[in-house]
Amino acid sequence: MRKAGLVVWEAHQVAASMVRPGVTTGEIDAAVAKLFQDKGAVPLFLGVPGVVPFPAVTCISINEEVVHGIPGARRLLEGDVVSVDTGCRLDGWCGDSAITHPVGQVEPRVMRLLAVTKGVLDLAIELMGKRRRWSEVASEMESYVREAGFSVVESFVGHGIGREMHEDPQVPNFVSKQLRRNGDFELRPGLVIAIEPMVNMGTKRVKGMPDHWTQVTQDGLPSAHFEHTVAITESGPVALTAGPT
Ligand code: MG
Ligand code: MG
Repeated sequence: MRKAGLVVWEAHQVAASMVRPGVTTGEIDAAVAKLFQDKGAVPLFLGVPGVVPFPAVTCISINEEVVHGIPGARRLLEGDVVSVDTGCRLDGWCGDSAITHPVGQVEPRVMRLLAVTKGVLDLAIELMGKRRRWSEVASEMESYVREAGFSVVESFVGHGIGREMHEDPQVPNFVSKQLRRNGDFELRPGLVIAIEPMVNMGTKRVKGMPDHWTQVTQDGLPSAHFEHTVAITESGPVALTAGPT
């Protein structure tokens, strides 16, 4: 899984190097598709079933778009924030990761949204080695975001990952009803999950767009998304989609 994770990390390096005003989201997607092809990796997002099958190897979501944006002809503008989410399978194992980038100069309050979203992911990874059950981590994630004055998206959650991109358990970034009832799980070596907080500046509520994929905030305020595939090993949590150490 670390090998797949490193290819996903490389894909994010390629994407990050292209983020600037004037670049289209389709150009970023094409570069990631080429990298996966060069590495012999299978893109996991392409063809995901829906009303229309997902048509790209990345989800690229700008500003009020929360997740599942479809790359295309749209050009990045100075002051935008752009989330790139991608995953691949290599030698039968999956990796999945997302990063939100500022495009040029971005308003300070939006930069703080990005920092808090990255911060809550880092917090969750650290706590995975220090807590016994996921509900304890989710509860602290929720508090961290609330204290920063932002809201955690509840319509989408993280997931187990392994041979398939989406496996059990569900990994909410808040204490959900499902988690309270029967969804909680122990944090012990061997567990691999994709943790992916989506944080909104305003309301947590989201709505789907007519393209059948893109999810946007109901109030039109910006959203950020960071994700790592994380394993618990005997010596603690390891982000499998982080760069080489
Ligand atoms: Mg994911
Ligand atoms: Mg993802």
